[in-house]
Amino acid sequence: MSEKITAVKGMNDLLPPESARWEWLESQVRELMACFAYQNVRTPIVEPTALFVRGLGEVTDIVEKEMYSFEDRLNGEALTLRPESTAGVVRAVVEHNLLYDGGKRMYYMGPMFRHERPQRGRYRQFHQIGAEALGFPGAEIDAEMILLAHALWERLGLQQVRLELNSLGQPAERAQHRAALIQYFEQHAHQLDDDARRRLHANPLRILDTKNPAMQALVEGAPQLLEFLGPESLAHFQRVQDILTANGVAYRINPRLVRGMDYYNLTVFEFITDQLGSQGTICGGGRYDYLIEQVGGKPSPAVGWALGVERVLELLKEQGAAAPDVSPDVYAIVPDAEALPLVFQTLQQLRRLGVRVQMHAPSGVATPGQGLGSMKSQFKKADTSGARHALIFGADELQRGELTLKSLRDGQGAQVCVALTAVDEWAQRLQS
Ligand code: ATP
Ligand code: MG
Repeated sequence: MSEKITAVKGMNDLLPPESARWEWLESQVRELMACFAYQNVRTPIVEPTALFVRGLGEVTDIVEKEMYSFEDRLNGEALTLRPESTAGVVRAVVEHNLLYDGGKRMYYMGPMFRHERPQRGRYRQFHQIGAEALGFPGAEIDAEMILLAHALWERLGLQQVRLELNSLGQPAERAQHRAALIQYFEQHAHQLDDDARRRLHANPLRILDTKNPAMQALVEGAPQLLEFLGPESLAHFQRVQDILTANGVAYRINPRLVRGMDYYNLTVFEFITDQLGSQGTICGGGRYDYLIEQVGGKPSPAVGWALGVERVLELLKEQGAAAPDVSPDVYAIVPDAEALPLVFQTLQQLRRLGVRVQMHAPSGVATPGQGLGSMKSQFKKADTSGARHALIFGADELQRGELTLKSLRDGQGAQVCVALTAVDEWAQRLQS
C-alpha cells in the first residue's frame, strides 16, 4: 500500500451523518430567504487579488496575513481564494449592472478560505451563508437584515444568541474620531503591541478590533466613535433600533464593535454566543455604502451579513438539537439474486412515490459466484440501516406475485403479504 494522503490542515471533510445537518440547515436557509424575497447568487471561488485588497482594505487581518494568493501559471495574474463573499457579490453586481432598475436582495452559501491558526470554530476552509441588500439607503433595510438573521435563529431553534450593535458613522465623522484615536494611542504608545503600532497611523480603528487581552483595558478607554456622530447618522441608527425594539429583538449597543473589514459605515452588528468559547461570533455584518464605488461601480448603498456555518452548527449541537433522521423507510431483502431484475422494478416504483428505499447489497472484496448473503446477514443489515420496514422478496412469494412487508420497529415483527402489482396501495404505509 502507498503512503496515505491526508486533507490539508484546517480543511475538513464533511461526512455522513454530519452532512445531514448541513443539508438541513441549507434547506432552512433557502426557505427563509424566499420568505424575505432574497434570491440566490453564486460567484467564483477565485477572484483577482486586487478585489480584496481594494475592497477589504490593505490594513486588515485578512489582507495582511490570511489570504490564499497565487499567480495564474500562464499569465501571472494575481489571484486569491475568496476569504469572504461580499466583495465578489459586489463585483458581480457592478460587472452585470444589476442595480440598473433598483435595489437587489441576494444571498449566497459556500466555502471561504483564510490562512488562520486552526482551532475550534476557526478553520482554513470554512463556510459562510450571507445576505446582501444592494441599492437601498434606508435604515429599514439595516433592520430587515438583522430581523432576517434573527428569524433564522428562531427557525433553527437556536437559543441564547445576543445581538450587539454599533454605528460607525460616515467618513467625515470617522476622520474626526480617527484623529482623536491617534492622539489617544500616541499618548499610550508604550502599551501598544506590534500590530497596533503598525496600524496606528494606517488604520487606528482596527486597533479597537484587537484580540490581544493585554490591550483590552487600553482599548476600553479609547475615544468612542458614537460621540463623533452627527444628527443624520444618529437618526439612522435610532430608526434601526426602533424597528428592532418594536419587533421584540433585544440588543446591546457596543461602542467598540468595529468589524474586521474597512468597508463598513453606519450600522454594524454581530450575533454572539457564550457557548462556543472564544470563537463566539456566529454572524456579523453591517452597512457598506462605499464599497460599490471602491470596486468601480456607481456609488450605491448596501448592507449585508455573513454567518459561519461551522459555528452555527456547533452551537446547535451544543444546545442538544437532534440530528435529522436520514434513515430509509424500507430495506429490501433479496434471498435469491435471480430475482433482482424484478425487484428493481418494484423499488423504482416505490422511489417514484417518494419512499426512501435502501436495497441490500453485499459489501467487501468481490468473490466469484458470491450471492447476496444469508437471510440472517441481510436482516442484520436491515436493522442497522434504521429502516422502519423490511421488504422481503422471497422466491415463493414472488412466484405468487407477492412480497412480504415486515415491520422492524414495532417489536412484534408483524408482517403481511402484499401484491407486486399494487405498489400504490401499500406504499403509503411505508412512510409513516
Ligand atoms: P473572527 O473575529 O472570529 O475572526 P471575523 O470578523 O473575521 O471573525 P467575518 O469576516 O465577519 O469574521 O465572517 C463572518 C462569520 O464567519 C464570523 O462571524 C464567523 O462565524 C465566521 N468565520 C470567520 N472566519 C472563520 C474561520 N476561519 N473559521 C470558521 N468560521 C469563520
Ligand atoms: Mg477573522
